[in-house]
Amino acid sequence: MRYVSTRGLAPVRDFADVLLAGLAEDGGLYVPESWPALSAAEWRALRALPYPALAARLLSPFVGGSIPRSVLEQICREAYADFGHAAVVPLVQLDHALFVQELFHGPTLAFKDIALQVLGRLFDYVLDQRHARVTIIGATSGDTGSAAIEAFAGRARADIVILHPHKRTSEVQRRQMTTVVAANVANIAIEGTFDDCQDLVKAMFADAAMRAELHLAAVNSINWARIAAQVPYYAAAALALGAPDRPVAFSVPTGNFGNVLAAWVAGRMGLPVAGLTVASNRNDILARFFDANDMSVRPVEPSLSPSMDIQVSSNFERLLFELLDGDAAATAAAMRKFRASGRMEVPERAWNRARASFRGFRLDDAGTEAEIARLWRRCGYIADPHSAIGIAAARTLPPMPGTPVVAMATAHPAKFPEPVARATGQHPKLPARLVGLLEKPERFTVAPNDLGAVAALVRGFARRNAG
Ligand SMILES: *Cc1c(COP(=O)(O)O)cnc(C)c1O
Repeated sequence: MRYVSTRGLAPVRDFADVLLAGLAEDGGLYVPESWPALSAAEWRALRALPYPALAARLLSPFVGGSIPRSVLEQICREAYADFGHAAVVPLVQLDHALFVQELFHGPTLAFKDIALQVLGRLFDYVLDQRHARVTIIGATSGDTGSAAIEAFAGRARADIVILHPHKRTSEVQRRQMTTVVAANVANIAIEGTFDDCQDLVKAMFADAAMRAELHLAAVNSINWARIAAQVPYYAAAALALGAPDRPVAFSVPTGNFGNVLAAWVAGRMGLPVAGLTVASNRNDILARFFDANDMSVRPVEPSLSPSMDIQVSSNFERLLFELLDGDAAATAAAMRKFRASGRMEVPERAWNRARASFRGFRLDDAGTEAEIARLWRRCGYIADPHSAIGIAAARTLPPMPGTPVVAMATAHPAKFPEPVARATGQHPKLPARLVGLLEKPERFTVAPNDLGAVAALVRGFARRNAG
């Protein structure tokens, strides 16, 4: 499988190169040159597979010749061996045609573990083949950093440095990063905001000498391998509910548009996806787009679902490229205009095409708490705020009679105990393997919001591991 940039000016690459590159040099995102489709008979045959085997089977066309099939199978087995549920991504029924798929049984209790646990192992294999190493750097306001650290801790060929804003993450989120004991993990607490952290990371990537010297790499949600590794759970849910002989709809709590894009990819691969709901909190740029072709940036406002507090959804560019018939020049022009003006202009025809697959939904904080309370009262189910928005969307926008709809549960309720306790009177418990998190010793370095100081820390850390 070959990959092209959505902006058309970067080299065509194979899976392994796209994995290591992350963003393309022209600022675009890598997408597969074509979509690998399975026949109905091939989908039916997959019903028999346990989750890790299904994941390997569906990743293999994207991986192409980059990694042998037996290695890919082993990677997927190992990635999911430590999940807290035998089914890895269990389905729970809430109502006649309403289901929840729990994506939060990984080590950090958020759906990002599902892709990142595979990614860490893919990096190790590819770097081992090349006798190379990388330094992964990233900025986090909470969730992504811990999932990346868990995925890369102890890996032989990667060091990982995560910047978080000092005293501005929740204690559970910080401890999920700072209590991981591994020689290749460094946490830097920046005396500044999340945006400062992100600017520091961008500046280090922009420093060509540093980038080359430390082989900087990123594992943020624009990495194609993360999208590919999210396709299998949509397939698992659909197959369990009767696909390919029965269509299934999905509702997805959305921030950077990576998770819901994977559902759309599953459709391109031949699964009968009946419709996709893009569920947002008050930061509703995507809902405004799908409702009214209005993609205009407004200030980000904090909400009860912080992982969806986003205005610019980086993975939307991949959908835009498809909506524009793979016209890279038009995609690049639309993205440039969007950056400059804060408003995306999508031609009516392309927007209508988007509406055939997607619709928007928004819910404010009061509505989110009401939904958490309702789910507890009616079903005895405890949902975190992100998941509750997706479930509310699934419930209030039914696709068509008889079509099952699956809402993605993206975080464990114990990650967001306060709103859950307010809404239900229940204090969600951390799973047993996370108990003790609040007593473990922490390791992190506090640094000023200063590029020179932070770059020196990163250099010192990466060299220590190389030597
Ligand atoms: C990252 C995240 C999201 C948003 O997912 P995208 O792929 O960025 O759309 C939603 N919920 C939770 C809990 C997350 O951690």
